[in-house]
Amino acid sequence: MLPYLTECYFNASASTSGFTLADKPRKKAAASMVRLLNAEDTNCFTFTSGATESNNWVFSSLAKSHKTGRILLSAVEHPSVTAPADELARIGFDVIQIPVDTQGVVHLDALQEALREDTILVSIMAANNETGVLEPIAEIGHLIREHCPNAIFHTDATQAVGKIPIDLQGDWEEVDLLSFSAHKFHGPKGIGGLYIRQGLDIHPLLLGGGQEKGLRAGTSNTAALAGLAAAASEASSSKFHKLCDLRDTFESCLLYEFPAATIYSRDALRLPNTSFFSLSGVHGEEMVASLAGNGIIIGTGSACSSGAIQFSKTLQAMGIEHKLAISSLRISFSKYSTIKDIEFLVNKLKTIHREQC
Ligand code: PLP
Repeated sequence: MLPYLTECYFNASASTSGFTLADKPRKKAAASMVRLLNAEDTNCFTFTSGATESNNWVFSSLAKSHKTGRILLSAVEHPSVTAPADELARIGFDVIQIPVDTQGVVHLDALQEALREDTILVSIMAANNETGVLEPIAEIGHLIREHCPNAIFHTDATQAVGKIPIDLQGDWEEVDLLSFSAHKFHGPKGIGGLYIRQGLDIHPLLLGGGQEKGLRAGTSNTAALAGLAAAASEASSSKFHKLCDLRDTFESCLLYEFPAATIYSRDALRLPNTSFFSLSGVHGEEMVASLAGNGIIIGTGSACSSGAIQFSKTLQAMGIEHKLAISSLRISFSKYSTIKDIEFLVNKLKTIHREQC
């Protein structure tokens, strides 16, 4: 990224880019994404500021091409999908949430039942941002093609890209649109994109200078694109497999120290780097703050906003009681995590738990 911040500060879309090479990071980013996702062509990628923008774009484009219609979402989507879907519901679209089972996996029977002729979009995430559960994207794609061949299939794959094998010309060939963010696979923040299947037309997001094939105008963020290109070419799901061992070791240690711990979605296919669990008697937010004081940064499934506690929508959709959800903790391991980190974490959890409970 540094050369594009310190030396090559030229405009990537100027007519001189052939000389300045300022357009090189974009080309590399598109080529790396093609390899990572086995996409058809570099032209399938439009770069955005990240998945929030890409997800919003899917809905804003739909609102331009349709006046009404049926939209199906899973009950555990990220707010960057549910909020724009709510907007469309307000202006007359029929937005239906498909329930998930106790593990957080979308009910395929309910999806099949909801797939009516007037369905224009199905948006179901590839991997959940809290539980790490992998939704059955290939099966969902086949159901959509069988029952609603003209519906657009979008998947928010922000948590999945770089962590599991994805094959857009293989078992994910029914996916039409796919959102991603580079920072989820060790790239920089503020860059990501939308994969648009070859031949699918969507309305431009931003009009102006015609950048990104006329779909998203604005001067390219060349440094961030260089970062995305490097991260995407280094990302390989095989590296994340070793995280499975680390995550499983962590969960075994956790259950040894806290036999009553509830580990969510343990019976479903999950991302290799995610562990989401509840320790009864623990207050999630307080534990997160105490661990942060010890240099351990993790998440919780409940948040206190304006004096009221908000519970994880994902846990609610899975039917988890509030009193358990309040004590939920979410750990994401990275390729830099080690067994020593796990020992340190479990020890700190034990010490703080003893102090708090
Ligand atoms: N979708 C999912 C599933 C996410 O986990 C996130 C961020 O954590 C987003 C969308 C939004 O990504 P960004 O903040 O990079 O726009």
